[in-house]
Amino acid sequence: FPILDQKVKGKPLIYLDNAATTQKPQIVIDAISQFYSTTNANVHRGAHTLSDDATELFENARNSVQGFINAKHAHEIVWTRGTTEAINTIASGLAQSFLKPGDEIIISAMEHHANIVPWQVAAKRSGAKLVVAPINEKGELNFSIYKTLLNKNTAVVAMTHVSNTLGTINQVKEIVQSAQQFNAITVIDGAQAIGHGFVDVQDLNCDFYVFSGHKLFGPTGIGVLYGKEARLEQLPPFQTGGEMIKTVTFQQATWNELPYKFEAGTPNVAGAIGLATAIGYVNSIDRVGALAHEQRLIKYCSELANNMDDIHIIGMAENKTSIFSFLMGDAHPSDVGTLLNQQGIAVRTGHHCTMPLMNELGIPGTVRASFSMYNTEEEVAMLFAALTKVRTFL
Ligand code: PLP
Repeated sequence: FPILDQKVKGKPLIYLDNAATTQKPQIVIDAISQFYSTTNANVHRGAHTLSDDATELFENARNSVQGFINAKHAHEIVWTRGTTEAINTIASGLAQSFLKPGDEIIISAMEHHANIVPWQVAAKRSGAKLVVAPINEKGELNFSIYKTLLNKNTAVVAMTHVSNTLGTINQVKEIVQSAQQFNAITVIDGAQAIGHGFVDVQDLNCDFYVFSGHKLFGPTGIGVLYGKEARLEQLPPFQTGGEMIKTVTFQQATWNELPYKFEAGTPNVAGAIGLATAIGYVNSIDRVGALAHEQRLIKYCSELANNMDDIHIIGMAENKTSIFSFLMGDAHPSDVGTLLNQQGIAVRTGHHCTMPLMNELGIPGTVRASFSMYNTEEEVAMLFAALTKVRTFL
């Protein structure tokens, strides 16, 4: 992770903004550079060696993702620009072909805007209703209320696997099981989960699971829409044009087979290869050990926070990832963030694209330190030493 070896404001960089994006190992940077230096060509089209080689790398990358999330088929893996585009693809397709007036779409109060706004638009287009499942005071989904919201009109349940603001890990398997009792389509936003645990889509049994490569040590601009084969077959394409067609006349077109039906235009070949390299990297490390390390970091963080009277932790779920959201006294989060940056510490401040959640909690935003496997206990200690200094400035 070469970017981590630098100084910011004259201090060694402490990067604690991993929920926004993770840094990239050298091997990923090299793979992208190598692709452009040796193999760059358009895929699926060429009658030449470079194109064949690029196509092979591109399709192998799809196979890597399939293995990583244990999808049944490689054609259930659709490349997108990221989580946001994946959810838009699903929501827009369902609005066009499936949702009808009176249907209900259930989301939770902790969703990212990317898993709220596409459903608002889908609801408006189709006449369906958006229903919000509440959270409890710890920031966990209130499961018993969620279950009472399910009924014969529930058409879609779209929920996050892990909250990007609270760190809460949702009981996705149970959420999906309950939704399926009412034949609802389940969509899981895996943006924050994919880099912090094992995801097995067949075990979760969800219809759709989406994530972004850049939160898994891969490049930006590449993401994944996993869908069960039957669901993807039913869903109309999001974008149209080249690659996604089988036949075209001036009057009409027929769609290509899966997954190409959803991949209009020249794809992000280098991005897919970069993501597959990141997956190879993650598979090569001790993942169980890395997760245990992250859990130690968040535990240590909570211990240190409990020693500071003016730190108020936002998100106290029993089961959470290494996201530490907090407020410091009555200081504005952005002031705390600026003062931490002066000390070389990168955190995120604000509403974290969860404005409705902030409204529910009655706060303008939080300071969020989010950890990855390359962070250390020493860095956590330095965060708190820096916060002690911040306090003297406020
Ligand atoms: N969902 C969650 C829970 C997120 O944390 C994010 C990004 O922070 C997104 C969706 C959107 O991801 P992207 O901006 O990569 O499309």
